[in-house]
Amino acid sequence: MNIAVLGAQWGDEGKGKIVDLLTPHFRLVARYQGGHNAGHTVYVEGRKFVLHLIPSGILHAGVRCLIGNGVVIDPEALFREIDELASLGIDVGDRLVISDKAHLILPYHRELDVLSEARRGERKIGTTSRGIGPAYEDKIGRRGIRVCDLVDTPELAEAVRENVHARNQIIRDTRMEWQAVYDQLLAHGDRMRRWTADVSLLLDEAVRRGDRVLIEGAQGTMLDIDHGTYPYVTSSNASIGGACTGLGLPPQAIHGVLGVAKAYLTRVGEGPLPTELHGAIGERLRETGQEYGASTGRPRRCGWFDAVAVRYAVRVNGINALALTKMDVLDGLPSVDICTGYRVDGRTLDALPADARTLAACTPIYETWPGWSTPTRGVTRFEDLPVEARRYIARLEEVTGVPMAVISTGSDRAETIIRRDTIAGRWFS
Ligand code: GDP
Repeated sequence: MNIAVLGAQWGDEGKGKIVDLLTPHFRLVARYQGGHNAGHTVYVEGRKFVLHLIPSGILHAGVRCLIGNGVVIDPEALFREIDELASLGIDVGDRLVISDKAHLILPYHRELDVLSEARRGERKIGTTSRGIGPAYEDKIGRRGIRVCDLVDTPELAEAVRENVHARNQIIRDTRMEWQAVYDQLLAHGDRMRRWTADVSLLLDEAVRRGDRVLIEGAQGTMLDIDHGTYPYVTSSNASIGGACTGLGLPPQAIHGVLGVAKAYLTRVGEGPLPTELHGAIGERLRETGQEYGASTGRPRRCGWFDAVAVRYAVRVNGINALALTKMDVLDGLPSVDICTGYRVDGRTLDALPADARTLAACTPIYETWPGWSTPTRGVTRFEDLPVEARRYIARLEEVTGVPMAVISTGSDRAETIIRRDTIAGRWFS
């Protein structure tokens, strides 16, 4: 069984913890899109790890971690992460594999990212300014430089010269010398070579051998370049299609999809968010849930669970079951709301509109459910949850159309309910 785990909301759903829980049952973990803008936080025996690029499977001895062609790699960020892991006593050794087809984030992509956000002014996207968008632009513009290109050849020299020249046309106040970029790239290539391979081929061999593959998404469906709330999205396909293209893996090799959703929702950056809470409850969710970006420290916008968005994610990704995270953050609230539809221009919508303008005009249709005063924090058995929390979860299952196979009741691995009677329960054993 090869399983994909991906975000069913706007990212930061707590995928890191769920992937970490599943990993012992898999031989390989493969990441298919995004860059070092993702930030997976995992706690192991009280120690905190934040991984941006390398799959969190690296924390498990014997698990191979693959970075697919759909990921964009900043070599310096990658090396920083490898060195940081080494300082924590984790040697990536030969367990790390980087696709030879992955595109690189070059030194000037970051500057271009900052510049393009500044030019948008009021219409800014709220990117992490790490050069990820510009690197994907170069990929689609067929100007990109890939891991396999990092050898001393006239072709690479020409590509770097052209790209740096184009950068110097845009950013005129500081000039960049192509030769310095070229030399640096070759040095990066030398260090990266031991980890470089054909990820698609390696996966094919693993699948044929029967080694289980865990496929890991970054960000979330609502941030997908095609299916998210465009233009307030990331530059890659965070949804399931990205797993096939970003790894060179056929759809038949993916046997199940586990979506991850918070028991409420958050988003970082700009863009419409119909259930956003601006008052005291939003503030409380932010503080209790520690909703500050793992990569940037930016406060996240918080709101009630939006079943329209999650239902959409279920459809687009073929999600079989959900992992519901941060249930404990709702502890002690007098009541909890669920958005089951939107109202706009006198009409009722139960599906997500295509354009951000219409979504911004939508008013949520809420159901209000009683809260629970007994904490769910740390509960490990479904039947030990307060009855109101169980009712809330049951209603979420109805409005999203899929079972909640996992309920996370705290940040630690142990603070988890796994419902083995659901379709996805057996993926955890
Ligand atoms: P990801 O990008 O989807 O992996 O999400 P992040 O790692 O950015 O955010 C998840 C944060 O929530 C991390 O700090 C986790 O330790 C924490 N977390 C995950 N599940 C739970 C939970 O059930 N309860 C609480 N309180 N925190 C959780």
